[in-house]
Amino acid sequence: MQTVGSFDRMGEENAFAVLARAAALQAKGRDIVNLGIGQPDFKTPQHIVEAAIKALRDGHHGYTPATGLLETREAVVRRTLTTTGIEVSPDNVMIMPGGKPTMFAAITMFGEPGVEILYPDPGFPIYRSMIDYTGAKAVPVPIREENSFAFSAEETLSKITPATRLLIINSPANPTGGVTPRAEIDKLVAGLEQHPDVAIMSDEIYDVMTYDGETHTSLLTYPEIRDRLIVLNGWSKTWAMTGWRLGWSIWPNGPESADLYDKVRKLAVNCWSCVNAPSQFAGIAAIDGPQDDVETMLAAFDSRRLLVTERLNAIPNVCCATPKGAFYAFPNISATGFKAKNLASRLLEEADVALVGGPDFGDFGEGFVRLSCAASEERIETAIGRMAEFLQKNTGGG
Ligand code: PLP
Repeated sequence: MQTVGSFDRMGEENAFAVLARAAALQAKGRDIVNLGIGQPDFKTPQHIVEAAIKALRDGHHGYTPATGLLETREAVVRRTLTTTGIEVSPDNVMIMPGGKPTMFAAITMFGEPGVEILYPDPGFPIYRSMIDYTGAKAVPVPIREENSFAFSAEETLSKITPATRLLIINSPANPTGGVTPRAEIDKLVAGLEQHPDVAIMSDEIYDVMTYDGETHTSLLTYPEIRDRLIVLNGWSKTWAMTGWRLGWSIWPNGPESADLYDKVRKLAVNCWSCVNAPSQFAGIAAIDGPQDDVETMLAAFDSRRLLVTERLNAIPNVCCATPKGAFYAFPNISATGFKAKNLASRLLEEADVALVGGPDFGDFGEGFVRLSCAASEERIETAIGRMAEFLQKNTGGG
């Protein structure tokens, strides 16, 4: 049997492999602290769960429109207005089965052999994986520690060539916790005016997760690029709904924008038909209902990231920049003498701490590991204590 080569080029998200290995060790009775996976350790707020149950009881069991229920799209319009001050039309909003399908849609729409797609490195691993799948050339834009893990407009623009079709950006960022300041995005957008054929996918899934007075800048606030901008967002992180598979994206709509919205609608018809109705009702309740649970979660992430940073910086040879967004810490461990993936795997096997090696987020992630702040402060203390003890016993790379 032979399958097409594009499937052999597809990558993985190693956080899931770490999760599986951690679960296997846990099943053997080991007390693993899992700081590997990027999902909030909170339950979906109860009123959201109730809305889904009510939808099922009310008989919402059938197909919905491929683009999503109008009510859910209107809820996204309200939410976008609240968070960005920008009024989009429900005809620009696509309800998706999670955040990832927007990446899949955008990257497969623009990627093919002979073209180039720019993506952040270190960055969410699926960007690179999907670019490779399409046969396009994946061009990394380095995300640098010395730049507080913000992207540099100048460096990004310097990578654009006549073959560039799509630029992917992500702020607040996974895996670094970096937040790119508005002034830098201003520069990027100004530079993009010289490149009117480059489309942009802005992954804003961590938009509300910023700290220390940092604010998120949505690319939607730049009208000059709206006709070539795709914004990825969703419910997974903000409302602790990773398993519901519910996301949204905002697309330009119309023939002057290469009918991008109609293309993603068609992809839905061909692939998943629509997002299940109860999740979409839950999504409306999430947006319109009380936000106190979200506030509680954000306050917990805020205090955990400070704790993680402080504890990591107390370990000799480990240096951790304070994350300004999302819920990850990305310490530099190069002075320990360990390669990042080796350290991650030994910490799991020998010290019962699950985290992810930086190279799983791209080549520029070497020398770093990612810790997700998705555990209680007590468990975080335990994990970092174990890490410190392991590094003390195994100096110079073990
Ligand atoms: N974008 C980024 C930057 C992420 O970190 C993640 C998940 O970790 C996603 C998108 C995907 O979200 P979802 O689980 O809704 O597909």
